[in-house]
Amino acid sequence: MKVYEIRVQRALSPSGLPEYDYALNPYVGCLHGCHYCYAIDYTKGPPGKMWGSVVYVKANLLEVLRREVRRLKPGVVGLSTITDPYQPPEAFYKLSRGAIEVLAEAGFHVSVQTKSGMVVRDLDVLKRYREMVDVGITITTLRDKARILEPMAAHPLARARAVEKLAAEGVRVWIFMGPIIPGFNDSPQDIEEVVRVAHSTGAELIYDKYRPRPMADARLAANYRKVEVSEDWWARVKKAVEDICAKVGARCVDAEEEWAAARRHRR
Ligand code: SF4
Repeated sequence: MKVYEIRVQRALSPSGLPEYDYALNPYVGCLHGCHYCYAIDYTKGPPGKMWGSVVYVKANLLEVLRREVRRLKPGVVGLSTITDPYQPPEAFYKLSRGAIEVLAEAGFHVSVQTKSGMVVRDLDVLKRYREMVDVGITITTLRDKARILEPMAAHPLARARAVEKLAAEGVRVWIFMGPIIPGFNDSPQDIEEVVRVAHSTGAELIYDKYRPRPMADARLAANYRKVEVSEDWWARVKKAVEDICAKVGARCVDAEEEWAAARRHRR
């Protein structure tokens, strides 16, 4: 594992995702090294093939961000879109923690998404700015097999505990159950276990299918197996998710519907 410091000229960038106005990525690359990671396809230059073992830390991020928030129009910031804001170097650098404070103080809404329980370290900040933040925790399956595709991320049970803790402390928290991958985490048992965490904590659950991307596909094929996604398969799985959510009484939404609603809202 190699960690390098870099200096940047920009902190916030316009987001191409419908639910965000801006993206904030404190790190380039991600040491969680998920084998299905889409971020590899959207990260220009390094770490490339070294994804998962090399990360670049934007050491001057907070200094740049403090300047930017004075001149940019407040909006919704995705923290993060092509890295995990609570991957191991965050324990030392505290860039995500600092960014939440700077952004919320300046009137920006921060939407955090992570696969790490480290986010509960910042409960004091998340509670202080609870009107300005939401936290999404990704859980693809609660089972140990998560390690096969998410080798360095927190165990899913640790993530479920983070959801419980955040919800108990009154932080708006949601679960991202995605990507759902054919033959990996698409069984009713896998799905129901995650849905039950959403129900017991009151968290909304957003679910999504695996969306093939060239580099992610190649990595998945090399480290796990080749994955084919068909419309019939997704129609069956989507119905299973909806049926389980209705049975359990959890609030569930297809990511595509969430994005469509965000696009309508922004028109
Ligand atoms: S945690 Fe997210 S950004 Fe990091 S490797 Fe996994 S999918 Fe990619």
